[in-house]
Amino acid sequence: MVKEIFAKTVIHKHNKAFPVLHDLNPYRGCTIGCKYCFAQYSHFYLDLDNFFRDIIVKTNAAERLDIELNKKKKKKEQIKIGGVTDAYQHLEKKYLLMPKILKIFKKYRVPIFLSTKSDLILRDFELIKQLSKVTDVDIAVSISCFDEKNAKIFEPNATSPSKRIELLEKFSGICRSVSVLNMPIIPYISDSYEELDQIFELSKKSKVDSIISYPLHLRNLRVKADFFEIVRQNFPEKAREFINLYENSSSPSKEYGEGLYEKIFSLRKKYNLFDNYKPITKIKIPNQLELF
Ligand code: SF4
Repeated sequence: MVKEIFAKTVIHKHNKAFPVLHDLNPYRGCTIGCKYCFAQYSHFYLDLDNFFRDIIVKTNAAERLDIELNKKKKKKEQIKIGGVTDAYQHLEKKYLLMPKILKIFKKYRVPIFLSTKSDLILRDFELIKQLSKVTDVDIAVSISCFDEKNAKIFEPNATSPSKRIELLEKFSGICRSVSVLNMPIIPYISDSYEELDQIFELSKKSKVDSIISYPLHLRNLRVKADFFEIVRQNFPEKAREFINLYENSSSPSKEYGEGLYEKIFSLRKKYNLFDNYKPITKIKIPNQLELF
């Protein structure tokens, strides 16, 4: 089911910066279909059953953004796009919300952090390039698995992991930063030294500035139960060990975390590639708005 709505507001403020406080999501629900997606819980509250198929389209997202940024002329915080749902999911091909949204950000010179799992972002390359001439633009892709076969199981409709990392090279040098969000790393499935090494190696080649690594958390019980089932079906030999790790907790144990970060620290040194990302906290207000 796809439902078009007129949103009352589009910029939302969170209690905690991840990595920035404000976000904009032109869609609710996401066709990319990641099995670990933490945002699935938001649909349970809306009485919509299927986060991956019941999609709400905020058709007036750009117009609302224009109104909200106009009110905030003197206070230009960085805004994250894609914090809850992917702005470049498949419906974006039809609805074309992002080109209009990027033009509004350019109008007000508001810096953005844009993360995606889709190469549809390349469609808007010229607009992003223009935006980055007047304000700071941070681009990121998130990568859970590097193994193509496993990525198809956990994020069935995303662009392949290697293509995702490679597309960052196009934005490198044009945008303020390009990052890989290596998350969620799935214990015993996408956490081997060799697999993480491939992510670091390709990131280095693709001129990535920063890699942020984080293991899987399973906070919602319904998402957790579904995820256990996927692991049982596809990785029966790893299921017991995996389930033990999360059975009584939403996050992996301290021992597991230490082992994982040992690998990550060693790779950071090997490739001289760190978690360098710094969100923009102070914005210089331009004297004149550049209008189209
Ligand atoms: S791309 Fe992001 S929002 Fe979409 S399903 Fe995957 S994790 Fe969820």
